Formats: sequence, C-alpha cells, structure tokens
Amino acid sequence: MKLYNTMSRQKEEFIPLEEGKVRMYVCGPTVYNYIHIGNARPMIVFDTVRRYFEYKGYDVNYVSNFTDVDDKIIKKANEEGVTAEEISKRYIEECKKDMADMNVLPATTHPLATEEIGGMIELIGTLIEKGYAYAKNGTVYFRTRQFKDYGKLSHKNLDDLRSGNRALLVSGEDEKEDPLDFVLWKPKKEGEPAWESPWGEGRPGWHIECSEMSKKYLGEQIDIHAGGEDLIFPHHENEIAQSEAANGKEFSRYWMHNGFLNIDNRKMSKSLGNFFTVREIGEKYDLQVLRFFMLSAHYRSPLNFSAELMEAAKNGLDRIVTATDNLRFLLEKASADTLTEEEQVQMKKAQGFVKNFETAMEDDFNTADAVAAIFDLVKHANTTASAESSKAYLQGVLDLIVKLSDVLGIITKRQEDLLDADIEALIAERQAARKERNFARADEIRDELLAKGIILEDTREGVKWKRA
Ligand code: AMP
Ligand code: ZN
Repeated sequence: MKLYNTMSRQKEEFIPLEEGKVRMYVCGPTVYNYIHIGNARPMIVFDTVRRYFEYKGYDVNYVSNFTDVDDKIIKKANEEGVTAEEISKRYIEECKKDMADMNVLPATTHPLATEEIGGMIELIGTLIEKGYAYAKNGTVYFRTRQFKDYGKLSHKNLDDLRSGNRALLVSGEDEKEDPLDFVLWKPKKEGEPAWESPWGEGRPGWHIECSEMSKKYLGEQIDIHAGGEDLIFPHHENEIAQSEAANGKEFSRYWMHNGFLNIDNRKMSKSLGNFFTVREIGEKYDLQVLRFFMLSAHYRSPLNFSAELMEAAKNGLDRIVTATDNLRFLLEKASADTLTEEEQVQMKKAQGFVKNFETAMEDDFNTADAVAAIFDLVKHANTTASAESSKAYLQGVLDLIVKLSDVLGIITKRQEDLLDADIEALIAERQAARKERNFARADEIRDELLAKGIILEDTREGVKWKRA
C-alpha cells in the first residue's frame, strides 16, 4: 500500500512500526461552535483511511483530540456569559452528533486537552531540562534554532522564516531570544482558565497539546499523523520539534494532509465567514450525501463545494442504494443455493471490480477511482441479476457492494427516517391542502407522517411536530 508522505513529498510504501498495527493521530477541531463542512473533510477522509486499514486486517489505534482550551472558546464564553468549559462541552457533544450522522467512527480515544495538562507540563519540563526551552516572566518558549531539523516537514528554511517573521519583533514579543521561538506555556490573563505550573498559573500552547496527547495514547513513535494542509506549518512542524527534541526519536513515520474544501475557490473558514455548518447541510441532505461528495475527489486535491456537485453526489449514492434495494428484493423470491456456471463467470467479473477498488485505495487512497469501481460493480449487478438468478449469486454480489461501500463509510440500506426538511415540506403541503379545504389530503399527510413516527400537534402558534 502506498501513501503520500508530506515529509518526503513522495508516495511511499506503508510499513507499520509494529506488524498488523497502525497507530494514527488526527488533529481534531477547536470546539467553540458547530463544525463546518471544511472541518468535516479531514474527519471523513481519515475515517476512510482507518476503515481501509481495518478492511485489510490491521488493528488501528485511532486517536483524535478536541482542542477545548483556546482564545476563541474563551471569547465565545465571555460573549455568552458562561464558562469556557460549558462552551467546549456543548460543542464537543454537537460535534459527536455530526460525526455520527456522517458515519465517522468514534476514535479509539478522543482526548481533551484540558484533561492532559499534567502531562503537558511534564513534557515542557523535559524540554527545558534538555535545553530546548526557556521560561521568561511566566511564558515558556521553544528554542527553535536548537532543533536542527526545524522546517523539514514544511520544507521551509530557517533564514527565510526569520525574515518573514521580523514583524513579530516589533509586536511586543521581544522577550523571546529569537523571533522564531514559539510558545509552550502562556501566563494567565484575567478571566481565563488557568492551571498551576512551575512557571506560574497559565495554560498550554496549542502545539504542545498534540505532542503530549499523541505520546500518551500512542507512544513516542507513531505510524501516521494527519490533519488538514493548513496544519503543516506551523502546527505540525512545531509538534515535530517538540516531540523529537523531548523523545530523541522520529515522531511519526508518515504525515498525511488533506486539501481544502473551498467555496468559490476560496478556503472555507470561520474567519472568512464563507462556511456552511454540517448541521445546515444536514437539514437539506442526508449526511451520507456529504460523505459521498467528499470521497468523490482525491483527498489531497482541493474540492469546491457546490449545489451541483452535491446533487451529483446524491444521484450517485442513490444509484448504489437502489441497486442494493433491487438485490434485496430479488433475494426474497430467489431459491437456488448454488451458482450456475454462467453465474460463476459473472461472479469472477464482480471480483475483478473489487480488485480495482483495492488497487485504487492502495494508491494513496484514491477514493475517486474506488467510487468508480463501485459504480462498475453496481452496473454489473444491474445487468446480470434478475428474477432467475440464484440466491447465492444475488447474495454474493450484494455482499460485495455492501462491503466496499462500508469501507467508504457509505450505508447502503435505505434510511427510513425522514429528514427534518422533508417533514417541514409535508407539513407545508398539509397546511396548503387545509386552506383549499381538501381535508382528505390533509388527513392523508397526517397519517403518512404518523406511520413514520412523526406526531403533529396543531397549536395556536402553528403546527408543531415531534418524533414518537
Ligand atoms: P480547526 O478547528 O480550525 O483547528 O480545524 C480542524 C481541522 O479541520 C484541521 O485538520 C483543519 O486543517 C481542517 N480544516 C479547516 N478548514 C478546512 C477546509 N476548508 N478544508 C479542509 N480542511 C479544513
Ligand atoms: Zn494537532
């Protein structure tokens, strides 16, 4: 299996540190609001990477953190007049709901930065002892030039960085020994969450959080470290400096980064305000469609979000689900338990598409080609399965489609649940029917919704609904 390593800028053969095992760390979101669909891209992409490793029989230890102490969280807490903890807890729960709806598997461990402060303080202590860090007036800095390999991931040269960073010198950080030095520990400011440390009350810098959580849950060396490409510099570069300086070994064998989800060819981000939350998209579409849309492109390519592409993803997904519906329908009536000779030939062809799927995934997780292989398999199923087919053939082909879809995290069984948007649309239709005094149609809609577990209540403020 080959994967692109940002470190070497090449596709490399994947060789695990320990046979049959994958230790993988994916930088998680900062939780101060609902996640947007840009944040969802690494979740979906690396969940798919994990699923493929598991399909290959690897035991995957998958760790993804929540950054639950950060300026943005504190700002939001102050705006709402609640604690930072209340904000982060709320949005971790909401994020987990979104992940479940996108069929992203829960990580083996989801550490929270605020629960790992002790380990971070220890790690900073080790860096000071080894001469890689120093404290000044309650702030601890990493001595960047001391780490000889600095810049190896982002392929940046220290002197170029220095000239680019000159502005920092005049912005009040002149107590640093060098403008390239970055913060490991920052002193408490009024009204901010803080922890006791040997350097006074304060909180950790963002980069040290991941170095510590990765070490604690996966060990000093891991197989894969991943995140969006905006994390290459400075976040991952700094993680490498901290971890390798402290532990004296290579931190991660492979570094994987997803490309941006764009909108009108600009990165979707909270700060630009050009974002859709996963929740918003979930009101319009089953989030399986969003997942399928993300996987229709290679994870390293930029991907432009558009209504057209979402519609195309919806139709593509529907083709797969409809094919499995048909196979299940035919299966109910089929009887023969063994494959005919002709079916054996067709089954071999079906296996060929599975091979194509695997070849695509083995080539740096080319999910676009993997999806194409599933479409080929679906087409094959549609043209070869019929009322005359044996049970063995129908079940065999169905199992293949379900298995490959599952690697991509795509659920093939039709979801019976109505989406909120569908319910609202039916309610609006019922109101219109009533206005036209078409009570038969209005009652029909009410009963149809009731059969799906939706209870309507006519109130003075309008129609309210709830799930039974
Ligand atoms: P943040 O909460 O900003 O730290 O981001 C959490 C994760 O989402 C990181 O891995 C980011 O690289 C990733 N990310 C943020 N915006 C985008 C985007 N527009 N496209 C792809 N990945 C993104
Ligand atoms: Zn990180």
